[in-house]
This record gives sequence, structure tokens and C-alpha cells, in this order.
Amino acid sequence: MQSKQTTFESLNPATDEVVGTHPVHTAEEVRAAVRRAETAAAWWESLGFAGRAERLQRWKGTMTRRAAQLADVVHAETGKPHADAMLEIILAIDHTAWAAKNAKKVLGPHRRSPGLLMSNQAASVEYHPLGVVGVIGPWNYPVFTPMGSIAYALAAGNAVVFKPSEYTPGVGEWLVRTFAEAVPEQPVLQLVTGYGETGAALCRAGVAKIAFTGSPATGRKIMAACAETLTPVLIEAGGKDAMLVDADADVDAAADGAVWGGMSNAGQTCTGIERVYVHEKVYDRFVAAVTEKAGAVRPGYDDSAAIGPITMPAQLAIIRRHITEALAAGGRAVVGGADSVGDKYVQPTVLVDVPEDASAVREETFGPTLTIAKVRDMDEAVAKANDSKYGLGGSVFAKARGMELARKLRSGMTSVNSVISFAGVPSLPFGGSGDSGFGRIHGPEGLREFGRAKAITRQRFTAPLTLTSFARGAKVDAQVAKLITLLHGRRR
Ligand code: NAD
Repeated sequence: MQSKQTTFESLNPATDEVVGTHPVHTAEEVRAAVRRAETAAAWWESLGFAGRAERLQRWKGTMTRRAAQLADVVHAETGKPHADAMLEIILAIDHTAWAAKNAKKVLGPHRRSPGLLMSNQAASVEYHPLGVVGVIGPWNYPVFTPMGSIAYALAAGNAVVFKPSEYTPGVGEWLVRTFAEAVPEQPVLQLVTGYGETGAALCRAGVAKIAFTGSPATGRKIMAACAETLTPVLIEAGGKDAMLVDADADVDAAADGAVWGGMSNAGQTCTGIERVYVHEKVYDRFVAAVTEKAGAVRPGYDDSAAIGPITMPAQLAIIRRHITEALAAGGRAVVGGADSVGDKYVQPTVLVDVPEDASAVREETFGPTLTIAKVRDMDEAVAKANDSKYGLGGSVFAKARGMELARKLRSGMTSVNSVISFAGVPSLPFGGSGDSGFGRIHGPEGLREFGRAKAITRQRFTAPLTLTSFARGAKVDAQVAKLITLLHGRRR
């Protein structure tokens, strides 16, 4: 049905007003965009690191000066408060600046040791652009999340065809339009809009890589589509992040972190805190502090509301199911409860005594909810936190054992004595494992995701033992064997 539509509307989730009308791009149109991008990619690559950095900094300047305008579009399409929209824009700008500034240092030529057997060679590695990268994004952070791929892929010398979520096409359109103002020469960053079919078409349009952020279920479909042509993929999927609170933690700061980490953006955060494991010595104090703080978080669409509506209406049923199943399984709500979920907004909800096999503990809820569980010690906390199919982020509040516990969490990122701080550090890699996906955006690792490692050896002089010639002879082979035995074959 959807594929027959030629346009679709993005709606304001708080008011149901139409925010904008956008084309549903067909597979043919997506392929045409990728063909145009191939030409643009060659031009973009020819600019070199300095030429690209200068243009990306120009775009960054435009985004910064017009951030309030972009925040209006984010606010209208997602319903999130202006201040939260601004926060994700600021972080995206900082990432763009970092990627532009550091691409040459990370991806440019680096000398490597040639080793003993090839000691007559100068060895080096450098990263060349892949070509055209397809970026498929979600709606929950419609600027910050796709920009984690777009800015890094562009800085690495690729052209990008971007398919934003069908809930936030206006945000995608704004990003692509302002890029074209900063870089008018070629369509280095293009937009294709539509539903899942448009994203699937992008996977099959001959791109050099797909960078996907979204749900694990869609991630599987994307991998299957990309498998047809061996197109590599980067998957940034969901999470069920845990927070650990040790007996020596600053309980008030931990409660503050849990409430913001769990409820900001109405809980629609891939690295949002959804589960908390608290040492029994501070459990009661922690629950009391969370109860007080979460009770003060008010949903609404006015400027003083702390959280907005649920952007994707279908998510409301999932949040409702998680809460009702947790209560039916013996859990108690200390904030909110069975009727927390309305037809647009969800009241902050804090659940305790929820069995570990309940959906509220095992599946991504994506709403302003928290489960809090009491543990005897931090070994139990780590074991429970790691007993998850996801492995994205996490948080530890502790004094003595903070770093040790952070290392024990099976996640791609962990913050000690804060929440989600890792996402704001451009030099750090971001990504997960298991159902949270694979590959990394941000930082040097994020730049390398969008480059092709190119190894080069340059012969500096003719070696006495030339290995790569039929003229080598038995004498050279014997000498090499002797050398290897001397180097690696001695008894310890
Ligand atoms: P989604 O998987 O429903 O959609 C994501 C994108 O994929 C959209 O643009 C959609 O149109 C497209 N799509 C849908 N079907 C497709 C198909 N068959 N082929 C190609 N593309 C297709 O996800 P969502 O609801 O937009 O986003 C929420 C999810 O994203 C949550 O699970 C959240 O945790 C996750 N997320 C992860 C990160 C991260 O960095 N790990 C960041 C933000 C959000």
C-alpha cells in the first residue's frame, strides 16, 4: 500500500498537525541519487582532507548560526522540548568539527614497522574513501544520531545519500539543504525520503556501505538486503542500558543520573538508563530519592515541560505492555503505574520488585520508565546487568570500584558517576554488541569505519635475502629458516 503513495506527511506528535509533505522516493529514484553521488564522491575526494575540512567547517558554521531554526523543526517533528533539541544539535556540531579537524591525522598515511623479513621496505597504511555511503536514520535523535555517521563519512571523503526516518523527514531536509548552501558545487550529501521500502532500496542501490541506526529488527532486514551484494553494514541498534549503584556511591547524584538518563527525551534514547541495580545498603535511600525526583518530571508540549510526547504512536502499546506485565508479575510502581500511558504522553514510571524475566527488564521499553532492583553485592549487579541480549551503554555510580565495575560491564560505552557522557566526547568510539549492533561511529574508529585501509610497501634497497623472486634459491631459504629459528624457535 505504502509504496503506491507518492508523498507522505510528517505529523507533530503533540498536536497531530501536519509539519511537512515529502516525496516517497522509489527504488529508481534512489538509484539515480546514488549514481549522482558517485560523480560527487569523485569530486569530494579530489578536494583532499584540507578542502573537505574547510567546507565541513563552513557547514558547521551555518548549523551553529541557524541552530534555533533547526531546533524548531526537531521540536515540531519529535515533540521534544526545545532545550533538548538544542542539546542534540550542539553535540552534533561538536562532532562535525572534530571529524573535520581530525580526519587527516587519523586517515592520512602512517608509517608501520616493516618487520625483520621485509626490513628493506618502507611500510605505510592510509585510508581511502569508500565512495557513496548510505545513511539510514531513526527519529529519536534525528540530528545527533545520523550526524554521527554523516559527518564522519563526509570527513573521510565519501558522498552520502541520507534516508531519515519517516517521522522526521523535515529534519533530514534541513540538514541536506544547509549542506548544499555550504557546498553548492556537487550533491555530496543528498536526501531520499519515504518509508522502509525507500531504505531497503538504498541498501540495494550499489552504495559502498550502509550505516544504519534503528531497531535490531530492521537491522536484520538491512543485513539481509546488503548480503545480496556483499555491501558492508554498520548497525547501531537498540539498548537496555543498566546503571549500577555501589554502597559508597553519592546516592543523590546517582538518583539524579538515573532519572535524567531514564526519562529525558521521554525515555526514547538508545543509551537511556532502563534498569538500575542498587547495593542493598543504599537501596532504600536511592529509591526514595528517585521517587521524589521522577515525580517532579512533567510531560507536556509547553516550554517548561521536562519531556515531550512519545514520537512514534506505536511505541505507546509497547510501554503499556511492559508496565502491565511487570505489575502482573509482582512488581510495584513507586511512581506512575498501570495508567501511566495516555494517548500521547507517558507519565514517569518507576518500578521495583520486578522479576528479571519480565519484559520491562529484558526488552527495550523506549519510554520514561525505570526498573530498580536490590542486589547483595556488585558481582550480582554486574551479572544481572550483563544478562541481556543488548550491549550498548551503561553507567556506574561508585567511589572505590567505579573503573573496575565499568570494565566489567559488557557494553560498548560506560560512564562512571554520570550518565551518557560518552556520547558527548567526539574522540570516543560509540557502538555496541549483540542486539545493539556492531561497528563504531565517532572518534578515530568512526572515521575508519568509512575508509578503506590501503597498505603500501615501497622498496628502499635490494635486500641481501630477496624472498619475492624465483632467483631466491635453496641457500636463501636455508638462511631464512635459520633466522626464523633464531628469532622464534628458541626454547624458553
Ligand atoms: P526503525 O528500525 O523502525 O527505523 C529506522 C530507519 O530504518 C527508518 O529510517 C526506517 O524508515 C528505516 N527502515 C525501516 N525498514 C527498513 C528496511 N526494511 N530496510 C531499510 N530501512 C528500513 O527504528 P526507529 O523506530 O526509527 O528508531 C528507534 C530505534 O533506534 C530504537 O531501537 C533505538 O534504540 C535505536 N537507536 C539506536 C541508536 C544507536 O546509536 N545505537 C541511536 C538512536 C536510536
